[in-house]
Amino acid sequence: MRHLVFEGAGRLAYREASPPTLESPEAALVRALAVARCDLDAALVHGRAPFRSRVLHGLRARWPAPFRSLPFGPPFPFGHECVAEVIAVGASVRGCAPGDKVVVPFQISCGDCDACRRGVTASCTAVPHGASFGLGRGAWGGVLADVVRVPFADAMLLAAPDVSPLELASAGDNVADGHRTVAPFLAKRPGAPVLVVGGEAASVGLYAVLCALALGSTRVDYLDHDRARLALAERLGARAIDDRYRKRDGAYPITVDASAEPDGLAAAVLSAEPGGDVTSVGIYFARRTPFPLLPAFFNGVHFHTSRVCSRAELPAVLALIADGRLRPSRVTTLTARFDEAPEAFLHHGPKVVLTRA
Ligand SMILES: [Zn+2]
Ligand SMILES: [Zn+2]
Repeated sequence: MRHLVFEGAGRLAYREASPPTLESPEAALVRALAVARCDLDAALVHGRAPFRSRVLHGLRARWPAPFRSLPFGPPFPFGHECVAEVIAVGASVRGCAPGDKVVVPFQISCGDCDACRRGVTASCTAVPHGASFGLGRGAWGGVLADVVRVPFADAMLLAAPDVSPLELASAGDNVADGHRTVAPFLAKRPGAPVLVVGGEAASVGLYAVLCALALGSTRVDYLDHDRARLALAERLGARAIDDRYRKRDGAYPITVDASAEPDGLAAAVLSAEPGGDVTSVGIYFARRTPFPLLPAFFNGVHFHTSRVCSRAELPAVLALIADGRLRPSRVTTLTARFDEAPEAFLHHGPKVVLTRA
């Protein structure tokens, strides 16, 4: 079969590989219908995310022994956000059948370990830490492939709502990531104003804008210094603030740091009101990152940071998409075909979505 391989910054190519097989009764084989470029993919292809980071390699040391020899770093199969069609299922799979359309969370989770049962599906203990499709950690392959093996089909796959695949391509990662930055806090404080600090996690910040508005926030402010993202945020319904990352006047019950820049992180922390909730989704590839801890302490802000737990977040995300309140395609800046992936993934806008047809 053919699959897309990341060979280093700026270098993507389709290569031949042997197709995966079911291997276990809990697995399914799927074929992507639409694939989205994750914000982390964009950082990788543009050479802004390091693979030789000591922190990342430190994580690998925590993998269970049988997994430590798995490949880590380029070259590796690429692409991890998709909506797909089931082509085969193992003997014990009950939740889907060949022909079904499914949303695929990008992280591998078993559904049965203690972490999965607590909803911390990003840290499933049945697989290596960080196990996911298309990120060079382990042998799960990328989703821009003719066949993708999903090891725990019943635990992972969700029935796709009856909408265009273009609305669902990013649901299993970046849309879910944007959703978790605002959904729990708007449930606690209905209608609360939100500040999103945009940047490197470009589509996650913009999905946070969409989710906040869909969930009833009365005002979403979007702070960034990138003109194109600001204009897009405004079209989505946010109030665009064109500025470097500085503390905003006033105080927000909910703030989001999607900048991956220390100044953006500080702006999100310092702009939260006492008791407010701050979520940082940007990845800081450093051992230490400056953090305004003293003002955060005196102000009493709640700071949240983690990788998204995509499987746990997806039911709420898909419900919003199914009833038309959330239309992730409004963030898409380039649509192309799977064949065009090596060039399309170099696009500089926030979101690329590829389709098979
Ligand atoms: Zn991702
Ligand atoms: Zn698990």
